[in-house]
Order: sequence, then C-alpha cells, then structure tokens
Amino acid sequence: MRKERTVLRGRPVSPGAGFAEIMLFKKEAVKIPEEPAADIEQETGRFLSALRRAVVEVEQFYADALERLGETEAGIFDAHLSILKDEYSVEQPILDMIRTRSLNAAHAAEKQFSELVELFTGSDDPIFKERAADMADIKDIVVRNILGIPKQSLSKINRDVIILADDLAPSDMAGMDTARVAGIAVRLGGPTSHMAIISSTLGIPAMVRTESWDALDVNGAPAILDAVHGDLVLHPTDNDINEFRLLSQKLKHEAVENTAYLNRESVTADGERFHICANIGIPSDVSAARDNGAEGIGLFRSEFLYMNRGDIPTEDEQFEAYKTVLRAMGGKFVIIRTLDVGGDKELPALHLPREENPFLGCRAIRLCLSREDIFMPQLRALLRAGAFGNLGIMFPMISSMRELLAAKDLLARAADELRGEGTAVGKPKIGIMIEIPSAAVLAEHFAEEVDFFSIGTNDLAQYTLAAERGNPNVEHLLSPYHPAVLRLISMAAGAASKARIMCGMCGEAAGDPLLLPLFVGMDIRELSMSPSKILPARKLLCSLRKDKCVELVKKVLTLADADQVKALLQSGYE
Ligand code: PEP
Ligand code: MG
Repeated sequence: MRKERTVLRGRPVSPGAGFAEIMLFKKEAVKIPEEPAADIEQETGRFLSALRRAVVEVEQFYADALERLGETEAGIFDAHLSILKDEYSVEQPILDMIRTRSLNAAHAAEKQFSELVELFTGSDDPIFKERAADMADIKDIVVRNILGIPKQSLSKINRDVIILADDLAPSDMAGMDTARVAGIAVRLGGPTSHMAIISSTLGIPAMVRTESWDALDVNGAPAILDAVHGDLVLHPTDNDINEFRLLSQKLKHEAVENTAYLNRESVTADGERFHICANIGIPSDVSAARDNGAEGIGLFRSEFLYMNRGDIPTEDEQFEAYKTVLRAMGGKFVIIRTLDVGGDKELPALHLPREENPFLGCRAIRLCLSREDIFMPQLRALLRAGAFGNLGIMFPMISSMRELLAAKDLLARAADELRGEGTAVGKPKIGIMIEIPSAAVLAEHFAEEVDFFSIGTNDLAQYTLAAERGNPNVEHLLSPYHPAVLRLISMAAGAASKARIMCGMCGEAAGDPLLLPLFVGMDIRELSMSPSKILPARKLLCSLRKDKCVELVKKVLTLADADQVKALLQSGYE
C-alpha cells in the first residue's frame, strides 16, 4: 500500500539533493550510575585512565578526519583534544567531585560536562550555542570510556540512505560511511554546526531544523532531500522524482561551471574590480579559504582562539596563530577582528558577571577597553604578526567616536612598547565593523579615522530592527532585505567612497546572491563569506554590470518594506 506523501521543511546548510531511504539514527541514552564511589583512589584512577583512552579515541578521529576531510575539519577534533586536556575545566573539577563528594567517576564526569554544555547552550550567540553539541559529544566519549560502553556508529551502512537524527556530533560524522549517505536532515543544529561544515566539505546535501517527524513512521521510507529549497519529501510521487532528477542535473552543471572561477579575479562585466574573500574562525580554516579561491580574509573571528579552553591565549600563542594565517595568505589582505566576546558569549576564564540584556551589554570593544590586561596582549600579538603579511586590524561593535579613539590610542601604545623592546612591528591598516546603527549614521566621521569599514549585517540588522539574533520568535522580523538596514548600509558605503577608503562586508548577507547586485551597486568592494559561497558569488559578480547595479540600488532604496525588496530582487528587476 502506498504511504502518504509528506513534506518536512528545514533549513538547508549544505546545498544538494539526494534520493534514498530514510535511516533513523537514534542515540541510546547512557544510564549513569549514581551510587557513591566505594574506593576514592580506585575511582580517581578509573577516571584518569578513561580520560587517557578518550584522548586516544579522539586522536584517532583526528587522524581519520585529516585523511578524509583535510586540515580544516580535522581541527574540530583538535578542539576536542584541547578540552579533554584542559585541567582547569575538566580534570581538576572532576577529580575534586570524586575526592570531596565521593561521586563515582561517571557521575562526576557527567555533572561537570553537563555544566559546560549548559554554559554554551545558555549563550545568546548562535555560534556558541552550536558549540554546545561539541561539548555534549566530548561528554559522551568520556562517560562511555568510564563505563566501558562502545560507541554507536554509522561506520557500516549497507545501502544508500538519508540519515534522519536529532543531531549528529562531530564524532558521529567522523566515523560515518559517507559513500552510502545521500543526505542528512537533523532536527537541531544550525548553519555553523560541525555537521553542517563537514557535510558541505564532503558535498553531502544537508538540512538542519527539520520539522518534527514524531507522528510519522519514517524509518525505511523512500525520501528525497532537496537541500537547496529545504524540503524532505517522504514517499515522493513520480513528479517529485522527475523534479529531483532535473535539480540534480542542474546542480552538477553548476558545480562544473563554478570551478572555472577558481583562479579568476572578481571583475564585473564592465570591468570593475571587487574582492571576494573568506570568513574564518580558526587558523586551519585558511585551507578551505584558499581551496575556494578566496582573494583575502575579510573576517578572522579571533574569539574562536579563546573558546573551548579555561584560560586566555597568551600573546605568543596569538602571535603564532595570526602569523600562520598571514603567511598562508601570502600577501593577500587579511582582516583580523579583535576579541568579540562578553555578555552573551561567556568565556569561563573571563569570569564575567551575568547581564540582563547581554546583546546591549559589555561585549566586544566595550569589554576590551575595560580590560587592558586582555586587550593589550592581543594588540601586541597583532602588531608583531603584522610584520609577516598584509594585515588589517578591525575593532568590533564600535558605537561612538570615543571608543574608536581609545582603541587607536591603545594600539599606538602597544606599538611604542614593542618598538622600545626592539621588536619588529608591521604597518597594519586599521578598520572598524559597521554593525551598530550609530556607526552607520556617523560613517562620514569614522571614515576620517580609519583605513577601512566592514559591514556586519548580522548585528546591524539585529540592532536596527530590534530583533534578537537566534531568537526564533522574531526570526521573521530580522531581515537584511529591510529597507532601513539597506539604507544604513548604503550610508556607510557612500561615506567610505567619499573618503576614498575601502568598504567591505562580512555579515551573512554578503554571501546572499539576491543581495549581491545591490552591494556591487553600492560600491562595497570586498565581500567576505563562508568559503563554500565564494565561487557561486564570483560567477554571479562576473556577470553583472556595475552601472545597472547602481540603477537597481536607486530603485530599491525607494521601497518601504522587506517583502517588496525581496520581490523586486527575485523578479529580475522588472
Ligand atoms: C556581523 O555582526 O555581521 C558579524 C559579521 O559579526 P558576528 O556575526 O561575529 O557578530
Ligand atoms: Mg557582529
């Protein structure tokens, strides 16, 4: 008997399409014993040897990932390893719980890691939230090793499948028999979760935030995953199958065409030069940037160096990380953003007080200006690294001139200190993120004080529209298509052109093909995005005429709401 066709919507994170049967992957919950430790010495020994086995297990994941996926994705397990080896937030607190509260090793480990998971889950920042899944993965590895339970694995799949799961941890992905996986759809996750990153590197179609399938009998059902439009079609009709075939052909054709743009410059059809660059989080991401033809790094989010550890990275550690990226980019412009944490992004080592309204609180440059003990080592590391490449130092969350001048003063002081010590200092360019409406409104003044702007559309939209990032209840209001956001972008870009400084963009909107013609028309010369979006964006940019894009901007800026803007951009501009 034919089962009923059902469509589950979700958010595509690795574009593509697959047709196979559903394999439901459900993780069995591990039961944690709660009886107290009988022999404290024995229990601490049991924990320490399980921790060592966990390290060996993750080292194996790292080696496999390096071979199968490359340096960028293997870096995930490097981060796992640094957490496992972090005495301050893992080994010591767990040993303390065993020794002072007589908890058994599994119970103590479960408690400590659950606290870390909660810390990340409670963050308002979607990137930090998504790291909670990594922490849960490490918890699972350690607890299983203490209890001697083998890992559930996706390593032996004997037919082509679309995997449906609540979420997939990096270790699930590492062991997966990817040759048989036609697609992945998960209920949780987000665009920067590791499942999304690894799927997109491996070219597996994937979707997150899939609608609930609880009321359906899905295991083994035939399905089409369309991870371009965000549909999982269960029990597809002949018509669905025909459409799937057409979409697959189109995607294959596009992939071949995109590679032709790998070594081309980003130049419009009427000869205007732009740069399409990559956003990165950790130094090893630079390989994905280069593999996708990035013409520079438009945003290195330095806060990733501070995450997943119990202390602050030293000046020397930071210097090495920044130097690695600058060298790897061989003279191309690399923008490193100073620390953007605080308030919502809780880093345990900072011991920051909780805030009622963290997005409007003491974060980013506000925090750095009040904590010279943290900021100065970063500025010194950046200045030293600047001698090894073409560096731009960018200050985040600038809302007033006073903050910019104070940050520049500290930078000048760090440079004087280094020169006084006889250390080589580069000549970095100085820039700010335009991500708070006040900075966009006053852009002409800021332009006199800096060498470049980079527009952060994620925060600019959040602050302009008073709609919190990552809050599903106001997701519908948070749109970069909103004319108010576009007007602010245009004001900042116009001020930069007038002052003859570079204007770039590093928020998510930079990689949106519908908006690209507008940004070209606004003269935003550097567009920085996740590496996988670079080639399609370059292909599109090379087909545009700047003069036509300028006309389009004029038209769009007369409109009153986001839907009208989107409709016009989708219409082909009639
Ligand atoms: C932005 O706000 O657009 C941006 C790029 O910064 P982040 O997403 O890191 O806040
Ligand atoms: Mg921001």
